[in-house]
Amino acid sequence: MGRLFAVEIVYRGIFQKSLAKNISRGIALAARHAGKMGISFGRYGDSPERNGIPAKSFAVIGTDEETLQEGMAKYEPKEVDITIAVDDTLLKGVESWAWYGLQPINRLLRPGGTLIVTSMHDAASLIPMAHRKPTPYQLAVLKGTASFSGLWVYKDDHTDVRILGAIARVLPELFTIDHVEKAILEEWSAPLKAASARRAYERITTRVVQPAEGNPEALFEFELPKWHEMREGIAIPSIARGAAMADPATRQTGGFRPARNPTFKKFTTRTMRPVVNFDTCVKCTLCWLQCPDSCFDVTPDGLYDANMEACCGCGVCEAVCPVEHCVTMVNETAFTDNGSQWEAWKKDKTAYGTWLAEKIRHRPERTHGFRFRGQYDKELPPMLEIAGGAGPENASGEEE
Ligand code: SF4
Ligand code: SF4
Repeated sequence: MGRLFAVEIVYRGIFQKSLAKNISRGIALAARHAGKMGISFGRYGDSPERNGIPAKSFAVIGTDEETLQEGMAKYEPKEVDITIAVDDTLLKGVESWAWYGLQPINRLLRPGGTLIVTSMHDAASLIPMAHRKPTPYQLAVLKGTASFSGLWVYKDDHTDVRILGAIARVLPELFTIDHVEKAILEEWSAPLKAASARRAYERITTRVVQPAEGNPEALFEFELPKWHEMREGIAIPSIARGAAMADPATRQTGGFRPARNPTFKKFTTRTMRPVVNFDTCVKCTLCWLQCPDSCFDVTPDGLYDANMEACCGCGVCEAVCPVEHCVTMVNETAFTDNGSQWEAWKKDKTAYGTWLAEKIRHRPERTHGFRFRGQYDKELPPMLEIAGGAGPENASGEEE
């Protein structure tokens, strides 16, 4: 019996769909150059994909056909050698559909497996975001911002091939950097992309994460409905119009909390979250009216508190707020909890002001999503600086 390798690519639905496909396909091609057989596929359970919601692609490789056939007999791998997160905010966990609950990013990693993440943060900042795992695993950080190479817009910033180079380094039994180079030249005929892969291979850094490290929080989960309890054509029960939050334990005194879906939390959908300055809010109600996810709880004093259980990070509240800097979207990596901002403000307004100033200080560094035409042009110069004068980390020959 030969050896079976499995790699999962966790990505932001739609926004990174083509990127994930390129990576899983590239893995299978590089493995073929290494004399193995492989297949790449998306997970049916994430379909239809929705913007930003975590989704997965897989690459399964066997050293021979029989081994691959056996691996393919399973719906999806139960254990993987490598998990790839192409957006560091995915380290907080993965929830793709209702009833699914929150899944740790490292859940499928075999003991000693490697989590590869693209990020501008270092391992020390990233490890607390991922849930604890009973067995040690490796964290490999590939320096770079989240690449949004999706279904509608594809900007070739070489993240796909840089990931392939990183895999060659952390799992040389699967394929070497020479196999990666051959696959890139065969698939894309792009020597520059091959150079990017080799650079990632040389620069990737790894660190072992011990069981005592990481986020200790208990995961929310649900009992799955039995097949005879499922309703035809409907996966997620709808919410009654005007309904209030049913759970008295989470309902604040006074104000109004709209009902929210009890089995689909959306924490992991967002890459940014709004931070509200309650001292400058004029109570115009626009954020509350326009939020597509009914996120705002009305507080007893008539303010609007974005509830992080429901926020998908779309940024509409920031766009509609008429008061300058009253609502500011901040990268999700800047937060370690989902607590109420209004409660923190009520408790200590001075401390909240300090907290808020610190959070919005990094606002210009936001890089997720597309908010205006030409954004990539603005993103690329800082990315080129990553290389520190030794040539671009992501090659500069980008194509539309
Ligand atoms: S970013 Fe603002 S508008 Fe969008 S879901 Fe979150 S609270 Fe609502
Ligand atoms: S849109 Fe801005 S000013 Fe208006 S209620 Fe919301 S936070 Fe306050």
